[in-house]
Amino acid sequence: MRYDTIIVGAGPAGLAAGIYAARGTLKVLIMEKAGIGGQIATSWEIENYPGSPPDSTGPGLTERMRQQCEEFGVEFATKTYLRSHQTEAGFIVETDSGSIETQTIIMATGAEPKPIGCKGERELRGMGVSYCATCDANFFKGLKVAVIGGGDTALEEALYLTKFAAEIIIIHRRDELRGAKILQQRIRENEKISLLLDSVVEEIKGNGQVEGIVVKNVKTDELTDVSLDGVFVFAGQKPNSEAFVGLLERDARDYLITDDEMRTNIPGIFAAGDVRRKSLRQVVTATADGAIAAVNVIKYIEEPK
Ligand code: NAP
Repeated sequence: MRYDTIIVGAGPAGLAAGIYAARGTLKVLIMEKAGIGGQIATSWEIENYPGSPPDSTGPGLTERMRQQCEEFGVEFATKTYLRSHQTEAGFIVETDSGSIETQTIIMATGAEPKPIGCKGERELRGMGVSYCATCDANFFKGLKVAVIGGGDTALEEALYLTKFAAEIIIIHRRDELRGAKILQQRIRENEKISLLLDSVVEEIKGNGQVEGIVVKNVKTDELTDVSLDGVFVFAGQKPNSEAFVGLLERDARDYLITDDEMRTNIPGIFAAGDVRRKSLRQVVTATADGAIAAVNVIKYIEEPK
């Protein structure tokens, strides 16, 4: 089976690319190793995607994108991308369950949460250490939790946690938060949330379950023990670009390098969404990337070779 384009990843970038490519009459396969939706599948509220209704959720929005893909004839497959080889006619994509021929590829593999790397974090993952409030907040009803990070994700997830936890401490390594001003204002107005600035978590303690953390003040080096039940880490993301090492150019932070038309260093391979180097990683920029990549795939296929 030969496709015009294989899209690797079914987050907003991959789904938007699918809609545009299939609507442009290409034969399209979207492969995804787990469920559709990418990172926003764990986002409880999407309030800044233009035109989305007030109660939009990540899963709701991406489910509608998936339906649109199917309406235009996109095929979906649960497969893990392993590597690809260039051929005269395009590429062979090797997956964990067979090889597929395609003329072009769009890499839309997204990014994933970055650990902070402190003692106890890995050992207690899933035992009170979480990277997704939407998934795990329910386990912390009436309890005390820490949120690590000062960016948009940390602030949004801390606000979400107020629906469940009794007390939330936001721990941030700088003297001011980094997230949007409107979120900062909501944080400061919320009685359940307190801020611990200029601070990093040195250790997460617990025996089979989080029991507390050791916090270091970065200005004074003073260490403080804090008893609590859960730690939510929102310390940014790392791109899912490992599979492309040796094939595609990456920057110093491992994001794929593309031009404004989403072209990578290999003609016929494009990249879209959070996996590529860019200044703003949002659903709206991911979908825009997907559309641009798909339109350029169509142009590439039509170009005389
Ligand atoms: P981010 O903006 O990179 O913020 C990560 C936070 O974690 C920063 O405050 C960073 O501190 C801190 N951090 C990083 N490594 C750490 C470590 N080892 N120990 C302690 N703290 C650490 O990441 P994000 O919040 O996930 O957002 C990613 C992108 O998505 C951003 O562009 C953001 O605007 C966007 N986003 C937008 C929305 C929205 O608009 N609704 C929602 C979520 C995300 P420093 O500040 O010191 O670097």
